[in-house]
Amino acid sequence: MSVEQQDLKLKANANRGQSQLEGGFDLLGWDEVTQGSVLPSFDGDATGIANKKAEERDYSGYNSYTASVASWRVIKPVFNIDVCIDCQNCWVWCPDSSILSRDKQMLGIDYDHCKGCEVCVEVCPTNPKSLLMFSEYEDIGEALASWPEKKKKEKK
Ligand code: SF4
Ligand code: SF4
Repeated sequence: MSVEQQDLKLKANANRGQSQLEGGFDLLGWDEVTQGSVLPSFDGDATGIANKKAEERDYSGYNSYTASVASWRVIKPVFNIDVCIDCQNCWVWCPDSSILSRDKQMLGIDYDHCKGCEVCVEVCPTNPKSLLMFSEYEDIGEALASWPEKKKKEKK
């Protein structure tokens, strides 16, 4: 699958990472919030919210879903859909819920929230791995073009 096709699949999450957690936007600092305040995660009535898809929820400005922390990362995981077996290991283990999966199909990385911790790469069982770490500035197409071949088992 080409990079463009992968990107198209990820566009399903359109309202993710709308704001940046750095300069020029309007959020209260943690020390400006009155003690005991309730910061709602969603705008309006949140009844049945668990049954809505992530991109259909009405997130409030306090919800980290709408903010991007991409600038915190120095290395990033790149996903190769051609090797993936949809085992969901990466989805289970990612500490930042940054693996995008739908109907048990791995779709890619939520680069707005991924911190580059490499856990997903560690737990990926394929040969070669379907996720590998690259510099934050690496072009995704070039990363995919440099993917390693399958490693042969050494004879004992
Ligand atoms: S690098 Fe870490 S935060 Fe990013 S997708 Fe992988 S496990 Fe999640
Ligand atoms: S752990 Fe690897 S093989 Fe399993 S779903 Fe994630 S990327 Fe695909």
